[in-house]
Amino acid sequence: MKKQIAVWAALTAVALLMTGCTAEAPPPAAAPAPATPSKTTAAPEPAPAPEAARAAAYRTWGIEPLPAPPAPPAVKPVQRKRGGPVPVISDVPTTDKVVFLTIDDGAEKDPEFVRMMDELDVPFTMFLTDSAISGDYGYFEPLVAQGHGVANHTLTHPNLRTLSPEAQRREICGQQERLRKRYGTAPRLFRPPFGNWNEATRAAAGTCGVDAIVLWRESMQIKDMQYQRGDRKLHPGDIVLAHFRGPGELKGRTMTEMTATMLRKIQEQGFTVARLEDYV
Ligand SMILES: [Zn+2]
Repeated sequence: MKKQIAVWAALTAVALLMTGCTAEAPPPAAAPAPATPSKTTAAPEPAPAPEAARAAAYRTWGIEPLPAPPAPPAVKPVQRKRGGPVPVISDVPTTDKVVFLTIDDGAEKDPEFVRMMDELDVPFTMFLTDSAISGDYGYFEPLVAQGHGVANHTLTHPNLRTLSPEAQRREICGQQERLRKRYGTAPRLFRPPFGNWNEATRAAAGTCGVDAIVLWRESMQIKDMQYQRGDRKLHPGDIVLAHFRGPGELKGRTMTEMTATMLRKIQEQGFTVARLEDYV
């Protein structure tokens, strides 16, 4: 009886194996394709897809990809005339559908923001204050290495209008020197804290080697963008202000969430982001 079962089992196994073999047998080799005349173009190489990779990177952050910015203007539309006063700008005269991102102070140092900017490759300018970043100048090094601009936002973030001309000069020239020592080049752009400045600020900035005082047109809040103009729209050449802020100031939201919201608002209005230093 046992022997019979064993034989039966062996036969069943063979049958199953054969069935399996039949089912999994490779299909008959395809007939060779008819020779095509060599004059036809070769099959296209699978295109390297930086655009697809870029779009995928944007979507992982929940943003539709921004269009590539136009080529930088041959002549910068904002320039300080030799010996002339330092220009003060809130936007840049251009018809390009671009805006410029500026991020201030440096209090929040979120590593995820560095990764986000590395993946999205969106240019921005950091207006850094020594008292906000002196504990960790190193955080900004990878952002500098990514090519983002470093600009001056004073040593201690005072209201410059309340200071003497000499004290203003110390705040501006002092931070020029610190940023130059730390990141290799002296900044060309300066933003007064709170946007408060007077003619002494302008004169001081000029003697410290600043090429432009940069204010703003829009200010990115936690979820909303504040517009200075009544039409509540971005205009070509607008300068957008944001801050290095953390969950404490963002009511639980993160720097990367705030940045994604800001980029969505720019993208929705048909704009893209260009490099401020290419225009000023
Ligand atoms: Zn500030």
